Amino acid sequence: MCGIFGTIGANCVTNTLLALHQLEYRGYDSAGIGVKTECGLQIEKSTGRVNALKVDFVAGKVAIGHTRWATHGKVCKQNAHPFVSYDGNFAVVHNGIVENYLQHKLALQRQGVEFASQTDSEVIAHLLAKHFDGDVATTLQKVCNMLTGSFAVVVATSRDDNLYAYKRGSALCVGKGKQGTCVCSDVAVMEQFASSVAVLPENCLAVLGNSVDLWVEGKHVEPCYFAPSHTDCDSNQLQGDAMLAEIFQIPDAVRQTYDYYFASGGLCLDKKQVNGYKRVYFVGCGTAYHSAMVGCSLLQRLAQMDCQAVVASEYVYDSFPTDKHTLVVAISQSGETADTLKAVQKAKRQGATVYAVTNVCNSSLCFEASFVKFVKAGREISVASTKAYNCQLVALTLFAVDFAHAKGRLSARARSRYLTCFDKVPSACKHLVSQSTAFALMAKRYKQAHLAYFVGRRLDFATAKEGALKLKEVSYLPSEAYPSGELKHGTLAMMEQGVLVVALACEKDLVDKCCNTVAEVTSRGASALVLSQYPVSPTSNQVQVVSLPAVDEIFAPIISVVPLQLFAYYFAKGRGCDVDRPRNLAKSVTVE
Ligand code: GLU
Repeated sequence: MCGIFGTIGANCVTNTLLALHQLEYRGYDSAGIGVKTECGLQIEKSTGRVNALKVDFVAGKVAIGHTRWATHGKVCKQNAHPFVSYDGNFAVVHNGIVENYLQHKLALQRQGVEFASQTDSEVIAHLLAKHFDGDVATTLQKVCNMLTGSFAVVVATSRDDNLYAYKRGSALCVGKGKQGTCVCSDVAVMEQFASSVAVLPENCLAVLGNSVDLWVEGKHVEPCYFAPSHTDCDSNQLQGDAMLAEIFQIPDAVRQTYDYYFASGGLCLDKKQVNGYKRVYFVGCGTAYHSAMVGCSLLQRLAQMDCQAVVASEYVYDSFPTDKHTLVVAISQSGETADTLKAVQKAKRQGATVYAVTNVCNSSLCFEASFVKFVKAGREISVASTKAYNCQLVALTLFAVDFAHAKGRLSARARSRYLTCFDKVPSACKHLVSQSTAFALMAKRYKQAHLAYFVGRRLDFATAKEGALKLKEVSYLPSEAYPSGELKHGTLAMMEQGVLVVALACEKDLVDKCCNTVAEVTSRGASALVLSQYPVSPTSNQVQVVSLPAVDEIFAPIISVVPLQLFAYYFAKGRGCDVDRPRNLAKSVTVE
């Protein structure tokens, strides 16, 4: 998490502050800037947002900045980055976790070094001072060799006017533009500062001056520059809450994703490859895991494939049979999710092929994967993912249809019928977002609820999981999801007045089962909100029904989640929550 930025040149302070605003979505506990001025390294830090930084040293030669999402040490000014070494010569910003920091910290303390923070990051600054050998680049390499964990580090020094950076496990890119060179954790943020950008390879040391020099394990390497593309649907341009704006972009984004899937070559796997895979894992975290559940369920249904949706961090540490006949579909909005990256690295080591589904070009996941499918959600700023989820579902549904066809399990006729059916999806999403006032009223109606359960079966269970996650992450209302059939095995004990049960019934053969569940919870005092594209009659005034536009059932998860996204947004607003920056969270989860 954390956003880091560093740049050299006359406008370095202004540009760093500008970049920090853009990076704030990656961490917003605290922020800080370090500038090399005529008077040496000047540091300013603050808790809270970048706006809280009071920077009165606008002239500088080199600047580094940081937005923090705390891992080690509480949120307070002392723990905000940058950290300065005990000799005052090095200022460091860091993204990631130094796993062996305590061992180094204790050793340095024994040698009399005083620490100003509880973070793991501060140790890097003091190690640079302790091991300085007359050359900042070789010292940084030496220090990083002593560290374990995943991290990206940027260093400014009083010794020269360069910037030094090191990347292991956490994303970092370098850029060159009219105003000078820069380094950043986010390619998209580089767009406004650099005309050429290069993503740093693993274990790369970078020295930025007038030009950029890179080394990997002592060998000089050429940066692979590309021109950063300007992202469409830029939520930064939007007024009001990004989350709501991004929900309103869903109809266009799903259409763009559908068009782009075919424009970029469709499935990209031929019959031989498809038939060579004996099992498919869909891996992701959080919202992307819920997309994985939908992808998996559809592939099982359409292709009768042996497949499993797996939480990425579980894949990393458990023993899922994997070999050269395994396809791993890795889903990550940012393409930087640390757990997902670890999972694909493990899968590759065991011989699997990786197929990435991501919203960000040139993200680390793209470099790990053999096949990449971009979803065209446009830049997503709100920490709670909305439109990227709907777009992932479009890409994964098309993947399942085409995979089943290539495997000979779905006829050309059935495939083209499905593809034609997609036409109704963008307009169904549009219809739902146009009803946003109704969902605002609904959120008001249930504002007294103290607990929410989301239930569904099969594909609807994935939607229930996503609905519960969205509600809890933006409103902090305790909310959980269960497969409907599971309630009677324990959770029914929680049903009473003040509990809201959101039940999904988007598959015809399961509507009656859903109605039974609703009857069971309402007869114990809970209120129920039922979402279905089929007729459901409310059996009591504790039951409210939301009629969804009819679409083919394989596309239902794309639209049935829209009311839940809107409900979560309005419910959170009703509680006065900061919907775009929920507490304790950050957008791109780059630590394990
Ligand atoms: N571990 C560092 C800290 O807690 C950096 C955290 C991060 O990358 O989000 O300050």
